[in-house]
Amino acid sequence: MRLLFATLVVALAVQASGGILGFDAAGTERQLALEAELDASVDAADLAFWMRGLAARPHHTGSEHGEMNVESLANWFTSWGYDTEITSYEILIPRPTERRLVLESPTRFVASLTERPMMSDPSSRFAGDMLPPYNSFSPDGDVRGNVVYVNYGRIEDYETLERHGVDVSGKIVIARYGATFRGMKPKIAALHGAIGCIIYSDPVDDGYYQGPVYPDGPHKNATGVQRGSIMDLPLHAGDVLTPGRPAIAGEPRLAREDAAAIAPIPTLPISYGDAEPILAAMKGPVAPREWRGALPVTYRLGGGEATVHLKVTFDWQMLTAKNVIARRTGSQFPDQWVIRGNHHDAWNHGARDPISGLIALLAEAKAIAAMPEPKRTIVYAAWDAEEHGLMGSTEWVEEHIETLRTNAVAYLNTDGNGRGFLGMGGSHALDKAFVQAADAVVDPQTGVSVLRRRQANICVNQGGEACGRAKSGLQFRALGSGSDYSPFFQHVGIPSINSSFRGEGHSGAYHTMHDTVMHFERDIDPGHDYGVALAQLNGRITLRLANATVLPFDLGAITTIVKKYLAEVKKLADDQRETTKRQNEHLAAGDFALVLDPSGSLMPPERRPAVPHFNFAPLDNAVMRLEQATDALELEANRDYAAIERINQLLYTAEAELMNPKGLPDRPWYRHQLYAPGTFEGYGAKTLPAIRESIEYRNYAQVPGAIEDLAAALDRLTMRVEEIRVLADD
Ligand SMILES: [Zn+2]
Repeated sequence: MRLLFATLVVALAVQASGGILGFDAAGTERQLALEAELDASVDAADLAFWMRGLAARPHHTGSEHGEMNVESLANWFTSWGYDTEITSYEILIPRPTERRLVLESPTRFVASLTERPMMSDPSSRFAGDMLPPYNSFSPDGDVRGNVVYVNYGRIEDYETLERHGVDVSGKIVIARYGATFRGMKPKIAALHGAIGCIIYSDPVDDGYYQGPVYPDGPHKNATGVQRGSIMDLPLHAGDVLTPGRPAIAGEPRLAREDAAAIAPIPTLPISYGDAEPILAAMKGPVAPREWRGALPVTYRLGGGEATVHLKVTFDWQMLTAKNVIARRTGSQFPDQWVIRGNHHDAWNHGARDPISGLIALLAEAKAIAAMPEPKRTIVYAAWDAEEHGLMGSTEWVEEHIETLRTNAVAYLNTDGNGRGFLGMGGSHALDKAFVQAADAVVDPQTGVSVLRRRQANICVNQGGEACGRAKSGLQFRALGSGSDYSPFFQHVGIPSINSSFRGEGHSGAYHTMHDTVMHFERDIDPGHDYGVALAQLNGRITLRLANATVLPFDLGAITTIVKKYLAEVKKLADDQRETTKRQNEHLAAGDFALVLDPSGSLMPPERRPAVPHFNFAPLDNAVMRLEQATDALELEANRDYAAIERINQLLYTAEAELMNPKGLPDRPWYRHQLYAPGTFEGYGAKTLPAIRESIEYRNYAQVPGAIEDLAAALDRLTMRVEEIRVLADD
């Protein structure tokens, strides 16, 4: 039944568009036959078998089960016919030696810092090698201080605290998980003078407020703790001692004190069970309504009264991270590589994160191994130490950067999988090709394509403009960071895509000891139906990129997306100018004094310097030139281009023209001028990051340089497009 649906949808999709992008009629037919074979050979029973083995025990980097998984993965790839190697890197990975959190006054409470094993979950019996809850790359520390509640610990949360007259300097903040990458919470707290950071999961976000808790239901119980790295990921990814260089023998290492990506203040994650007595003991102003969670306490901002003692120490050892790299050499273009990756390390059992994505990758690799040789080389990668900061992928990219610059056609990432609606992000030049592939994969619950189901979700829940865009516009969200695409995409400029299913099967198990096989197969993706769909989707796009005659890069999409982002940053500057002007006028008139909280607990905002008018003309002109060039470029898969190999190489390396060789302001490792993780967000993307953040954080002097750099990059891209056109016309 599933096969019938798939064939039908493919036929409809390609009929409408006149064939698969990048293939002529005969090529489309051959490709459709391969894809039908892919769909038929991806087997949910394989997925379940691999998950039960890989996620049987905790398998963090350096663990016994982690080592076993590396061997199993290498053996599977080899048995299917891939040239397989294990690449190793020596990286700094701290594990805790002491963790202590005590509420010392007004009452005394010693936090348990321990998750409760569930005897009804068989994985609990195999938890011997488990890491306790901690945040890796917290520094050692022994601090004592008053506690302040800072909500999600975002920049704007500290502005709210300031208006309530609450100062965090010399204090310990307690932040709740969510809204930003966890590493941003100690980073922003330290910028405001805090000396320690506690992060807890509020039940309003993923605990009993959302539904029954584990093991009765999927949500977080009172002992569940989210582990996770707090390295400064928006600064750089990978080993903190070798930024920008591979962590191999002979490379110089930074001293630990000089590693800028290590978090600035001691930090510890806790459960809501441990957080409740601390929050209950706090005094001070009642927290704003949106800050309150679902614990039975009055949420207060704190400051004074409640005092805690926080102590954490770590072993700071060097561990070996091992990637498994499997290669099938292309028959026609062996030096053009389509790379597909997912990490293999986990915080604990990691059934969902990362194994649910890795088993889809395995299914693709097994299916494609049985097919005729692809035209281009396909590389499968299972990365290690992703959880500590994208270490395995980043070190591999840094080691092979020169080869990747010439050979890497694209990088296709997944990092676990869920159930529901297709989520996807990445290089907009690949948007159309990926969307076309998504329209050929059948959603297991509804029988329509996963693309159609995604559109319906956006149209029903967002409507209006978003619905229109979902039907005819570019679909990719901009990528920030938080998974292994970052080194490929934002450090080197290799076109990248990240995808998964999500939106149903909500859970509180992320990075806790409850991310187990039982939980995944009961609460997330029963029957592994969405694992099958993920394999059919990523297997399709891998095959299409590996076999296309003309690689399906749509450089016109770059023009479209830059125009959109440029309009946004112009509006940002205009809005900021207006708001600043208005606020300063009201401040001068003394109006704030009349509207503030009569108790006097709210402070007026500060006077800000006026926002200048920026000269966007160099960028407007560069966009216009790029648009003329991309409009004039027409590549047809059914034409016989003499220089096809060169044309394709110019197409897939075009994205690299958008890199700034100097990097972004204050973070040279990130070079992509269209997409970066926000300096204070981490997961969330900032588009046109150098310009946008310079305006947002009021570093106005940086704006003209950022405009010039991007205009120069767009001009390089324009020249590239013209070079392709000349070759195509010959
Ligand atoms: Zn992951």
